[in-house]
Amino acid sequence: MKMAAVPEYFGSLVFDDRVMKANLPAEVYQSLRKTIDEGAKLNIGVANAVAAAMKDWAVAHGATHFTHWFQPLTGVTAEKHDSFISPSPDGGVIMEFSGKELIQGEPDASSFPSGGLRATFEARGYTAWDPTSYAFIKDKTLCIPTAFCAYSGEALDKKTPLLRSMEALNKQALRILRLFGNTEVKRVNTAVGPEQEYFLIDAKMYEQRRDLRFTGRTLFGAKPPKGQEMDDHYFGTIKPRVAAYMEDLNETLWKLGILAKTQHNEVAPAQHELAPIYTTTNVSTDHNQLTMEIMQKVAARHGLVCLLHEKPFVGVNGSGKHNNWSMSTDTGINLLSPGETPHENAQFLLFLCAVIKAVDDYQDLLRISVATAGNDHRLGANEAPPAVVSIFLGDELSGVLNAIEKDIPYEGIEKTKIRLGVDVLPKFRRDTTDRNRTSPFAFTGNKFEFRMLGSANSIACANIMLNAAVAESLKIYADRLEGAEDFEAALQGMIRKTIQDHKRIIFNGNGYDDAWIHEATAKRGLLNYRTTPDCVPHLLEKKNIQMLTSHNVYSMQELASRFEVTLENYCKTIVIEASTMVDMARTEIIPAVEAFTLDTAKTAAAKKDLLLSCPCTYETELVKKLSGLTDQIAAKADQLEQAVLALADAGDIKTESEAIRDVVLPKMGQLRLPCDEAETLTAKKYWPFPTYGDLLFGVR
Ligand code: ADP
Ligand code: MG
Repeated sequence: MKMAAVPEYFGSLVFDDRVMKANLPAEVYQSLRKTIDEGAKLNIGVANAVAAAMKDWAVAHGATHFTHWFQPLTGVTAEKHDSFISPSPDGGVIMEFSGKELIQGEPDASSFPSGGLRATFEARGYTAWDPTSYAFIKDKTLCIPTAFCAYSGEALDKKTPLLRSMEALNKQALRILRLFGNTEVKRVNTAVGPEQEYFLIDAKMYEQRRDLRFTGRTLFGAKPPKGQEMDDHYFGTIKPRVAAYMEDLNETLWKLGILAKTQHNEVAPAQHELAPIYTTTNVSTDHNQLTMEIMQKVAARHGLVCLLHEKPFVGVNGSGKHNNWSMSTDTGINLLSPGETPHENAQFLLFLCAVIKAVDDYQDLLRISVATAGNDHRLGANEAPPAVVSIFLGDELSGVLNAIEKDIPYEGIEKTKIRLGVDVLPKFRRDTTDRNRTSPFAFTGNKFEFRMLGSANSIACANIMLNAAVAESLKIYADRLEGAEDFEAALQGMIRKTIQDHKRIIFNGNGYDDAWIHEATAKRGLLNYRTTPDCVPHLLEKKNIQMLTSHNVYSMQELASRFEVTLENYCKTIVIEASTMVDMARTEIIPAVEAFTLDTAKTAAAKKDLLLSCPCTYETELVKKLSGLTDQIAAKADQLEQAVLALADAGDIKTESEAIRDVVLPKMGQLRLPCDEAETLTAKKYWPFPTYGDLLFGVR
């Protein structure tokens, strides 16, 4: 069978620019392009024409339904399908889709988390078309990317604040570019390339584990004889079943216009990574949500399950997501790329400083943006960056900044003092800046790589905070520079001041080292919020509210709702885990251990019948040990259950989250210990579910 070439089917399920151009009347196309590129308002006539063309195209590609596709605060996407059918007088149907249906939808939204933003009696929210992200066909349904808001106008989703943060950054970055004499640039966009890690396990084994089915991670499991200690999986040969999965996945993603590019095995057994080519943050966010969904769907076709949880297995690395982020102009200039001329370099240094200042001033917001129960397992556990935010710049760039700060010669430029707007910076070699893998926020030549995201996080959250914080730095710079009498002197002074004030956030060493955590917190005063309950309350600090509301990224009510929803999500996640543990311990583990204990006792009795003098030491000791463990498991399960029940008295969500962190989580650990020990003593055929060894090495 001859396979179609990738360029032939790439984007075949996307209503992209090619399709628009081919299927829309010229003036409709022009008008829509203006909306996409410049945010111009769309009139209903144009919307009707676009809707009709979209419907014809979708129906020709087998679609029967359409849906507004949105990103509520659950972190996953939502859709409600409507068919195109409309009755005709002769008893048949025609396929219809109007501009009004394209522009706005009204899903009954009462059951989405809103953090108190929308009382249930006021159930309606509405979805509004986001024309900057192309519509696409999935499961015979035309999906229209939308923003999701309450009727009062408050955003109920992750996309609206993301679009607002991009707008905020655009506005402030344009002010800076104008100061540098650039009058051509119309728009500054941020772009992201998210590297996505995941695990693949056998579906039959997955089905046998309630912890995986209910919580996405294993809550029990003794350490297998082999884990990741041989380092033989990282970049290793891809096994045939996994290769078939990746091939199918790529094809499915390519049809949806997703630029899947790099794939390889990761550090842990059964762990893999997929990275797309970067694109505009908004589209990249949509694509990452779609990618996560499709990874799971395609896995099902191959008898596999794709685990996106941050820590599916204790004792081997968990999964994260690297958010490669840059700012660039519509004229194609990467603002984080050191330039060829002194002028460009001064501009580069200013944008670089804006990021340094932003990351230092809003460390807490960046930490909060990746806070989930799942990600708490990784940060600071020596497999992912610590919970302390810092920036890696590499020696060369740090040397340049140091020279500017102290007004001393820099070796790279023939030992002269660096004057902004006069000197050309040395070329930074990428390999000198990309070695450090332990930094939460690393400069990698022409972009920053934010590495604290969990594999299941929506990248919207991190990028909202990053864009907003950088917009704030740029605003402060623009305010000062616009009023300056001597631009170059003001620029030099401001860059120097930024370095002086914020150099504490720069760290080029090993982020996994305990000594760093000590230095960061005790000497540099950096924040170390270990867990979600530790960090999320800081969302509502005055400086954060002020910054986010002043750039119209969030309203006060929206922030209060995010605080509520994030903690609620944390609590619910862990309560489900705790309840699953109690249940599995009582209804699966104890009965299995009891059965084996009984059979061991029977063996001893039978042996004694046969050989009166048989001491049966092995059996007796084993029965004693297993009985002891059974008692411990029962007791610890009771205690955990009590701890969960006691949460009802917490009163508010913050107190509840703290009780979970301080009481429930430790009790889960205490229940797990005797269970895992029992697993190592119980004959394999009695154990009620697949073990770590089975799961991690079960796919060939
Ligand atoms: P690695 O981090 O594994 O060395 P790369 O740095 O080549 O790999 O790329 C990682 C991701 O960064 C990819 O998704 C890539 O498209 C993205 N990327 C590359 N350049 C940029 C950029 N200027 N802005 C945002 N993302 C980028
Ligand atoms: Mg990377």
